[in-house]
Amino acid sequence: MIRWTLHTHTVVSDGELTEEELVRGASEEGLEGLAITDHYPYPCYPVAVGGIDWATSHRALALQIKSIEYLRSRYSDITILTGAEAEFVEGLNVLERWMHDLDLDFVLGGVHLVGGWALDWSEEEFLKGITHFGSLESAFARYFEAVEELADSGIVDSIAHLDVVKKYNAGERYFSERSPWYPELVERCLRRISKANVAIEVSTAGLRKPVGSLYPSGWILKEARELGIEVTVGTDCHKMGEKVGEGLDRAEEALRSAGYERYLVFRGRKPEEVLLT
Ligand SMILES: [Zn+2]
Ligand SMILES: [Zn+2]
Repeated sequence: MIRWTLHTHTVVSDGELTEEELVRGASEEGLEGLAITDHYPYPCYPVAVGGIDWATSHRALALQIKSIEYLRSRYSDITILTGAEAEFVEGLNVLERWMHDLDLDFVLGGVHLVGGWALDWSEEEFLKGITHFGSLESAFARYFEAVEELADSGIVDSIAHLDVVKKYNAGERYFSERSPWYPELVERCLRRISKANVAIEVSTAGLRKPVGSLYPSGWILKEARELGIEVTVGTDCHKMGEKVGEGLDRAEEALRSAGYERYLVFRGRKPEEVLLT
C-alpha cells in the first residue's frame, strides 16, 4: 500500500490548507510521509491568467521551510519533506539562481505556462492554445519541449503530471492519444527524461479533473518503465475536505500493471527507494 504523497499545496501558494492542517490530515489518514510542494517562483503567471498570484515568493518559501522544522518536532509519526513545484520559466538559469539557497528535500518540475499559454488553467484557456500556436499539435509540441528543457536543466527531481494536456480531453473530445503525432511527442519527451535521469510523477489529480484518469495514461507509464524511468507518487492535494492521500490505491494499481516494483521518495534531493509490498 502506497503511503506517501510527494505533491501537496498549502495557502502559501494556491492551496486552502495551512501546513499544519495538511500534515495533521496526512497523519490522520495514516500516511508515512509527504512533501509540501507549493508553486514556485512568484510571479510566474502574468497576463495570461489575469495576474492571479498562485505561486509563492522566495521569502515565503524560506519561511515555510522554517515552519516545517517546527512541525517535524510536533508530528513525529510522519515524515515531512520540504519541497517546491518549480515552474518552467523562460531562461531556466533564473530558476536555478532562485532555488540554490533553499533547503529543499525534493523539487518537482511542473509546466503550466508556455509562451503565454496557461494550458491547464481553464478549458477556455486550453482551447486558446489552438489559435495561439496554430494547432493543438503545435501547442503540445511546445508544451513537451518545455518539459524536456525542465528535465535537462538539472533543477528538478521529478516531472509533475506529464500529460496534463489531456486534462479537458474527456471522451477524447479534442484529440486521440492514438493519433500518430501524440505518441511521437510523448515518446521523444520520455527519451529525454530518461537520458536526464529524472523521475516522472504518477499523479492522482487527473482522477478529479474532467478527463477522470491518472496522469500519465497507462501506456505512457509502461513506456516509461521500459526506458528505465523511475517514478514518484503525488496527489496534488489543494483543498479542504480532499483526502491528502486521495487515489493512492489507483496509483499503486497503475504502477503494478506497468511493471513497477518500487517508487522513489527524496530526502535532501537524494532518491530513496520504497518497495511496493
Ligand atoms: Zn502542477
Ligand atoms: Zn501541484
